[in-house]
Amino acid sequence: MTTQAPNQITDPDVYKTLLESTKAIPWKIDWATMQFAYIGPQIEKLLGWNTDSWVSAEDWIARMHPDDRAVVPNYCIAQSKAGHDHEADYRALTKSGGYIWIRDVVHVVRDAEGEVTALIGFMFDISERKKTEEEVLRLQKELEHLSYKDGLTDLPNRRMFDSVIELEWLNAKRYRHPLSLILMDIDFFKQYNDHYGHLQGDACLKQVAQVLGQAVTRSRDLIARFGGEEFVIVLPETDAVAARTIAERCQHLIQQANIPHQQSQVANILTISLGVNTIIPSQKDDLFAFIEKTDQQLYQAKQNGRNLII
Ligand code: GH3
Ligand code: MG
Ligand code: MG
Repeated sequence: MTTQAPNQITDPDVYKTLLESTKAIPWKIDWATMQFAYIGPQIEKLLGWNTDSWVSAEDWIARMHPDDRAVVPNYCIAQSKAGHDHEADYRALTKSGGYIWIRDVVHVVRDAEGEVTALIGFMFDISERKKTEEEVLRLQKELEHLSYKDGLTDLPNRRMFDSVIELEWLNAKRYRHPLSLILMDIDFFKQYNDHYGHLQGDACLKQVAQVLGQAVTRSRDLIARFGGEEFVIVLPETDAVAARTIAERCQHLIQQANIPHQQSQVANILTISLGVNTIIPSQKDDLFAFIEKTDQQLYQAKQNGRNLII
């Protein structure tokens, strides 16, 4: 009786059975004719197209998402010509019109002279992995988004303001454009909380945020919650006259909102004080000093009686 080493299989049927029982789908393309010499029957279960319908590389290209078709075949052909084994991810069209993410792992077969004779490979269904990847990316985006948003008012938060003002400061400096800043603070808000309760105070802040949002119109203008009951507006490419107009609009919108505030010492409705500042920053100017000066103007508005723009 002859015994066979366990690392040797001589019966081709065993190979075939092995190849056709894996999840990975084997295939072979003859390089000279670009025709499929073989494709595993598993392809039909995955994509719906039967094995006979895979005639040439053209069928493979035609059954690819248009976005992938623009890059993947060229990449694979270039790699194959160079004799490099490679892999590519793409969306394969299913017979029912959907798409499935495939990872194709390709081995380039060469003859004794080094000429490419065939490509053999395995297609793997990576749709689950892609789904996870996409979900992770979506969550990352969401997290980034959330960490720039104020939880109470839904406005961009202080962190967002810090990033944006720094960017706009550099822009204004480079292009010598005026940059304006409006800082606002609700008048006697401590008394508002004391009188109406903290929850009502929260609701009031939400309303103020919503109302102030209507004051800015350009897409690059940024309104943010600066801190507790303070709000800030960054106005790129905006001169002092235009900034003053927007500050007046803020004051007017809050007045129109007509939010009762019995304990205010300047009116019987909610009011705000504002500091407005404009600069065309030069090399010697400092962003922190610019913000600080705007804050001092706001302080002046408070000192001079509140419900004022300075
Ligand atoms: P002024 O006119 O000088 O600005 O007086 P003020 O009372 O508004 O100023 P102060 O800074 O003394 O008080 C601000 C108040 O804002 C105190 C704080 O409890 C309240 N506040 C800050 N953040 C929140 C918040 O998220 N929700 C509520 N309800 N209140 C807040
Ligand atoms: Mg304050
Ligand atoms: Mg206040």
